[in-house]
This record gives sequence, structure tokens and C-alpha cells, in this order.
Amino acid sequence: MKKITLLLLLALFLLNGFSQKTYIWCGALIDGIADEPRKNMTIVVEKDKIVSVENGYARPGTNDKVIDLKTKTVTPGWIDMHVHMEHETSPSRYMETFTLNPADYAYMSVKFADTTLKTGFTSVRDLGGSGVNISLRNAISKGLITGPRIFTAGKSIATTGGHADPTNGYRKDLQGDPGAREGVANGPDECRKAVRQRYKDGSDLIKITATGGVLSVAKSGKNPQFFEDELVAIVQTAKDYGFKVAVHAHGTEGMKRAVRAGVNSIEHGTFMDDEAIALFKQYGTWYVPTITAGRSVGDSAKIPGYYPALVTPKALEIGPQIQNTFAKAYKAGVKIAFGTDAGVYKHGLNWLEFTYMIEAGMKPMDAIKSATIHAADLLGEKDKLGSIEVNKLADIVAVDGDPLKDAKVFGKVVFVMKGGVVYKQL
Ligand SMILES: [Zn+2]
Repeated sequence: MKKITLLLLLALFLLNGFSQKTYIWCGALIDGIADEPRKNMTIVVEKDKIVSVENGYARPGTNDKVIDLKTKTVTPGWIDMHVHMEHETSPSRYMETFTLNPADYAYMSVKFADTTLKTGFTSVRDLGGSGVNISLRNAISKGLITGPRIFTAGKSIATTGGHADPTNGYRKDLQGDPGAREGVANGPDECRKAVRQRYKDGSDLIKITATGGVLSVAKSGKNPQFFEDELVAIVQTAKDYGFKVAVHAHGTEGMKRAVRAGVNSIEHGTFMDDEAIALFKQYGTWYVPTITAGRSVGDSAKIPGYYPALVTPKALEIGPQIQNTFAKAYKAGVKIAFGTDAGVYKHGLNWLEFTYMIEAGMKPMDAIKSATIHAADLLGEKDKLGSIEVNKLADIVAVDGDPLKDAKVFGKVVFVMKGGVVYKQL
């Protein structure tokens, strides 16, 4: 018995003493920080972290592993700051509210999460679902299923009849009177309660809908839906719990009220005027454009019967406008973090956002930074995510080609590592 114990101890010592490293040889490395790519580099990964970044193709030790990406371009794992992992667009989506159970959403979200990770997105911010998105985050972080790191808002907070009121458009006896627990809040007290409920639910951040939206069954896509005192109550309460506040806003007035209340990001920002742009810059508010969703709803609205009658005109008016707003905001120097509203269009096409941003005048390197270091900044995770630097988590993606020269290359992901584990290698 003594001998066996000794052998076990020796084996443990050896395992610890010679822990395996992974050497990733990169033909071109875009690290999320520098303005230019570097050629012929090596990233060394140990367990879940980057332990060194070296010039040239460094020689591994005998126990180490090599991943040869000498013909590829390597970047930090991409971060999509606006997704909905529980849903995906379809003409039957409105009917599904009445036919699907939470477990149905859960199984669908497993597939969407896997697709998202394997198309290069190693982290996402889930900006609203039923609460299944919280269980999804937990299952991924436990390693039960594969998907990106998820920072989730749980259920979005709206006012009665507002964009994220879950019973909009229902028959009266089915509407009930959802309250703070369901994410519907009116007046500062209920707003505080709604934020505290998200804390109790296990959310990572707060999402509110400060103006009307496109896909809710309600008339206006842009009217303001919270008062100043309600917004201030939300922001102050969120601060107490360490939450950032992400705000859905198309309309100008609701957007300005939210920026003045001190929220962290405005999503969509469709009818951003010059005064709003000045406010974004004054308050340091982030803009998350979601051009992909805008273009997609604009296209789907042209298919007869795809959306309910109330939704179609909103989709046609608001959707196609977002790319123009983005161009204006980028030119004016508003801080931009990459976000697509995946789920409003089909999961796995998140990379199209890069092509739309570049098409609207953004430098390709700025587009990459918006999805890496800048997104990590807005997440509050800049010390762990968003760049290829020593001590950061090993979230690493490779594409086949030069994404700085051809935006379609973002759709050619050949390698995905998250937290030092390889999920895709072609
Ligand atoms: Zn959204």
C-alpha cells in the first residue's frame, strides 16, 4: 500500500512539474491593441491563460503541443455585445409564445450557443430572454454544453406596454398585469424592485427598453417609455449591485434621457441626432449599433405575412436606418462596441456586422477592436478579455485570409479556442 501511495504522489508531482503548454504559431497576429498586425508570432497558452507572446515561431518543449496557424490570421476571440440566445427569427415566432415551453427554448439555445462559439464569438452579452438565458450561462460555465462565455441580463425591464412587456399584443384575459418580477416596472420604486429582482435571479447586468421597439406588437417603435426619475432609479440601484445598464433605444428623446441618467450603453440608437451624439461624448456612453438586425428586419418585412401588421411598417422604417446612424456616430468619434442583435436574424451570421461596419466607413482594424478590446471594456472585463496579452484568458480565433483586406474573411473562421480549450480546428 505504501508503495502505491508513493507512486501516486510521484505521478502527481510529475504532472504538476511538467504541465503541458500549447504553442500557437500565427502567420499574422492582430492582438486587439496594436494598430498593425505582426507577422510570424507565437502565443503560448498554459491551462486557461496566455503566458507569453513571442516573435517568431518559438520551439516547444517535449511535452508541449503545437497548433500551426502559419497560414492564418489570428485575433482575440470576438465579443458580441448584443445577442438573444433563446430565440431565432421565423414567421411562426409570435405563435410560439403560446406553444413552446421553457424547455423548448432551452434546447434551441443549446444549438444557438454552439453555433455562436464556432463562428468565432467566444463571449456574448445576452440582452434579454425569459431567464432560460441564465441557466444557459450556468450550463456553459460548468462545461455541460459548449458555447461562448455569457454575460446575461436575464429578463429585460420595460414599462407597461413597453418594448419588453412580455404580454404585449395578447388578448386581455391573457395579459394579466406583469410586474417587477416579470420585468415590468412603473415608477421609481418598482424600477428599483425590478433591478433587485434581476440580482436575485442571477443576472450579470441590466437591460431596459427606453423607447418602443420594432418586433413588439405595439404601435410605436420610438416613443420614450421611461421617465427621468425611473431611469435614475434604475441606474442608481444597478450601481449598488455592480450591474452595468444596457439600453434599447431607437427614438431620440428616450435615448437622450437614458444617456443623461448615466447608463453604460445605447443599443441600436437609430434616431440619434447631433445633440444626442454630443451627449454620448459628454457622458462617455457606448454605442452598440446592431446593423445586421436592422438590415435583416428590413428585408424580412418585405415578405408578406412574415411579421404581424403592427410590426411591418416599423421594421421598414427603422431597420435600414441603423447603418446610416452608425456611419455618422463613427465619424463623430462616439465609442463603439460590436453588437448584432443575433436571434433577430439567424444565429451564426454575427460576423456580417464586421462587413456592414466596414461598408459604412469604419477602418477594419477599428471594427476588430470594437469586437475585442472595446467590447471587453464595456463588459468591465478588460483585465481578462479582449486582447492577446500575457495573463489574459486564452480566447483566440483564426481566420483564413486577411480580414483587413477582405471583410468576407470574417466568415471564414478556422480555429476557435476559449479559455485554453480548442472548440474548432479545421
Ligand atoms: Zn435585442
